[in-house]
Amino acid sequence: MTTRRAACSCGQLALAIEGEPVRVSMCHCLECQRRTGAVISNQARFAREQIAFTGQATAWMRSSASGNALTFHFCPVCGSTVYWEGQGFPGFVAVAIGTFADPDFPAPAISVWEDTRHPWVSPPSDPETKRAPQQG
Ligand SMILES: [Zn+2]
Ligand SMILES: [Zn+2]
Repeated sequence: MTTRRAACSCGQLALAIEGEPVRVSMCHCLECQRRTGAVISNQARFAREQIAFTGQATAWMRSSASGNALTFHFCPVCGSTVYWEGQGFPGFVAVAIGTFADPDFPAPAISVWEDTRHPWVSPPSDPETKRAPQQG
């Protein structure tokens, strides 16, 4: 089985993940733009039991558009957000794809909040990609 490692910039917060993600997506929402400092967020969702967590994380919570709590976990040393959990998806953890530092990581098959996509960010080229103007 594939084991992948995700980590923050300084490396103290790290995840070892067994097996494949259940969902890989990109999000163009303004909240993700503020959180990442980038114009797009890319994430892979895994079942919590696939993940072994090491290091210290600080939690920050906000409400999603549908009112569900989203709790983001970031490194208190370097500030990288490595993973988050949503009340709407109990038992699952979203991991920021960039924290794998792996250009061969599976590509997103879902693109959400395209209403606020920067026009110079190309939408996914795969015609099978599910796209949504917004997301609850
Ligand atoms: Zn760090
Ligand atoms: Zn978003």
